[in-house]
Amino acid sequence: MAQLSDDCFAFGGPMMSVDEAVGLITARVNAIADLETVPLVDADGRVLARDIAAPLPLPPFTNSAVDGYAIRNADLPQEVEQAFPLDGRIQAGGLVHAGIKPGHTARIFTGAPMPPGAETVFMQEDVRIDEAGNIVLPPGLKPGANVRPAGEDIPEGHIALRAGQRLRPQHVALAAAFGLSRLDVMRRIRVAVFSTGDELASPGEPRAASQLFDSNRFMLMAMLRRLGCEVSDLGILRDERNSLADGLKQVAGSHDLILTTGGVSTGEEDHVKAAVESIGSLVLWRMAIKPGRPVAMGIIDGTPLIGLPGNPVASFVTFVHVVRPTVLALAGSRPEPLLPIPVRAAFTYKKKIARREYVRASLRRGEDGTLEAVKFPREGAGLLSSLVETDGLIELGEDITRVQPGQYVGFLSYADLI
Ligand code: AMP
Ligand code: MG
Repeated sequence: MAQLSDDCFAFGGPMMSVDEAVGLITARVNAIADLETVPLVDADGRVLARDIAAPLPLPPFTNSAVDGYAIRNADLPQEVEQAFPLDGRIQAGGLVHAGIKPGHTARIFTGAPMPPGAETVFMQEDVRIDEAGNIVLPPGLKPGANVRPAGEDIPEGHIALRAGQRLRPQHVALAAAFGLSRLDVMRRIRVAVFSTGDELASPGEPRAASQLFDSNRFMLMAMLRRLGCEVSDLGILRDERNSLADGLKQVAGSHDLILTTGGVSTGEEDHVKAAVESIGSLVLWRMAIKPGRPVAMGIIDGTPLIGLPGNPVASFVTFVHVVRPTVLALAGSRPEPLLPIPVRAAFTYKKKIARREYVRASLRRGEDGTLEAVKFPREGAGLLSSLVETDGLIELGEDITRVQPGQYVGFLSYADLI
């Protein structure tokens, strides 16, 4: 597999900032090469594989933006209202008018093609009909008003969608407007997911008194699916070097990425590091981020491995900063940097300099109408309730040491993270 610069996973040195880590990933992980063609109805969430140049202008023909009356610019009433006899009726999708006679107006409806010669449309609300049945148009309307010229949205030939775009409903709509029924997209990347730890039991299975149910694996698989991955659920690996090594080696060749959670701290019972080292290479990326812990980056038979910490909140936050950019790069998507939205803090907070911190917070509307962020009252990295009962993460940059109520801070909504 040639998706990686050899040194991408070899930055085990001193503490790295989050931006350095993301920069390393986006610069050195290359996209998979395989494409597939999918029907338009299945294109949402996929990564576009080729640029799309507009095969026709949008709108395809000049048409009326309102229900009303079309006339030639040369006939526009200047100083006083003027009555015009009717020359035709043009419905959306109906026959194209042969051409409007000078000194006449045509009844026209929204989306109907402009009759040749006519350049302006009066809204029906602005006109009246006299006793003779003529249409009385007021003076002062701007030439070209209420008309949508062909190509005003997108001219023919314009590169309207770029390769690497992760398709959202609006992109699918544009492809449909071009008449495309199938799109070339990158194949989904295949990700193998393991949890590690003797203390874990799978939901639905018996749980010993000293065990807890594995929640991270389901969180990570759900996040990966939202990023468009095909996920292999490989269950729980025991805290034992050889069985970990066997499990990991088995999936290496058939996946684009291996993701594990737990077992990557430096405790005696953290065996992922030793297991990966016995069958591939591994370094621990020490990122200046809280919540977080070292993240293991490895390669087994050419397949990259990312080992996330076991604490659920640390797992979530490091997924967002390490796995998300890796997955997007492997999948051929262009980077989608996270842009925190400024909101007012409704809390006080102290933090260490030179470390990025993420505070779980809910949004509410303050007295002056602006949004303010309320910090979750507790901070433990194991508290799933802190993710469930909040709306997103407040990003506190490396140089911040304290937050005061009323201060602007950056908010990342959970909805935008995946
Ligand atoms: P570790 O990173 O293996 O040292 O685990 C750190 C903490 O996270 C321990 O309290 C683990 O029990 C917990 N943990 C590890 N893996 C999971 C998991 N898959 N789901 C929920 N909690 C976990
Ligand atoms: Mg463990």
